Amino acid sequence: MARKIGSRYTAHQILGRGSAGTVWLGEGPEGPVAVKLLREDLASDQELVGRFVQERTALLGLEHPHIVTVRDLVVDGNDLALVMDLVRGTDLRTRLERERRLAPEAAVAIVADVADALAAAHAAGIVHRDVKPENVLLDMQGPLGPGGAHPALLTDFGVAKLIDSPKRTRATKIIGTPDYLAPEIVEGLPPRAAVDIYALATVLYELLAGFTPFGGGHPGAVLRRHVTETVVPLPGIPEELWQLLVQCLAKAPASRLRASELAARLREQLPTLAGIPPLEVDEPDPAEEETTEAVPAAPGAPEPVRRKGAVPLVPGARPDSNRDTHTSMRVPAPDELAGGAHGTARVPRAAGAPRPGSARHRAAVRRRRITLGVAAATLAAVAGIGVWLASADGDDPPPRPSHSTSAP
Ligand code: ADP
Ligand code: MG
Repeated sequence: MARKIGSRYTAHQILGRGSAGTVWLGEGPEGPVAVKLLREDLASDQELVGRFVQERTALLGLEHPHIVTVRDLVVDGNDLALVMDLVRGTDLRTRLERERRLAPEAAVAIVADVADALAAAHAAGIVHRDVKPENVLLDMQGPLGPGGAHPALLTDFGVAKLIDSPKRTRATKIIGTPDYLAPEIVEGLPPRAAVDIYALATVLYELLAGFTPFGGGHPGAVLRRHVTETVVPLPGIPEELWQLLVQCLAKAPASRLRASELAARLREQLPTLAGIPPLEVDEPDPAEEETTEAVPAAPGAPEPVRRKGAVPLVPGARPDSNRDTHTSMRVPAPDELAGGAHGTARVPRAAGAPRPGSARHRAAVRRRRITLGVAAATLAAVAGIGVWLASADGDDPPPRPSHSTSAP
């Protein structure tokens, strides 16, 4: 079932379906290509088509061994298509689903490739904005690298920005999964290069752990965790690797590494990671995630209702020097979160350790539990998410060349 796309391309068969459209195996004047045909509702959006054409130059100019190059943009009748290099392989999400967790060496090799890709994009003033395993393709025809990892290529540059128009954002509220959203986006700041670093560090954590650090449960809860919670160490993770993760998951964008530094630091660690098996981390309990949200007090109730896992925001606490954007909130200290009973982040457990919230675990943490102002936490959280949604409704200034913002 061949189908013409513009005057130069023919689409032959469907390679995959994504949120923005369908990807076809196609043929162009220079050989096989991948053609992403955008969804009809996107293609018929005049404003989006206009921006699509506007973005042409930036997207087409991005060439790098770890970037899926966009070769052409086709606007033809009702069709709106991106013509890309064909990658013969699979995406990182598929690999992760198959293996659950990757060995540190392979995970780091893949993430270093993506960091290289981001370094090139950021140097060209382009922020990806949608770094996640679905947008990393593994080239099975490329040479095997450290840990048996195939070369990784980042795809979907600029697509998030195109689709994230004010009109569309209002209709759908949240574009994509919130698991990889940097805290400054939650707060409504324009996305700079450092948001990609945060997202990539989230991907690295996920490859190692099998789950993202702040995901799970209601999307609003996920957004709130990005702003208020700190990551909890993964059992058995090499210390240097953990430090790198913590730095790139910093709440303050300026504290994160730049892409080129991240790539270099990751590659430095590869030799010491050789042969280490995937970490033994238990999946977080989904039931736990569903019941760990803070809820406001019922009218007239003597005490605010506090479900386990309310976010520990302390009103009036001293500003945290590490975070230049929330001077009125305090980040929970690692020891406050360590028990997992009063944070809503997915707390990793070594395989076989007591499950947070279990009787055995509760007994252990009860002694050090602190009383927290839940109503304040809820208000702050709602305000934070409100700001984000309001800003998503407003104009979205184009990302500027922003590698300078991620300089420490
Ligand atoms: P979306 O971003 O719209 O959700 P994707 O870009 O993830 O869609 O594409 C969906 C699927 O199409 C991918 O999972 C992958 O299998 C396939 N695909 C995407 N781009 C390419 C490409 N350049 N080469 C080969 N396959 C691709
Ligand atoms: Mg995609």
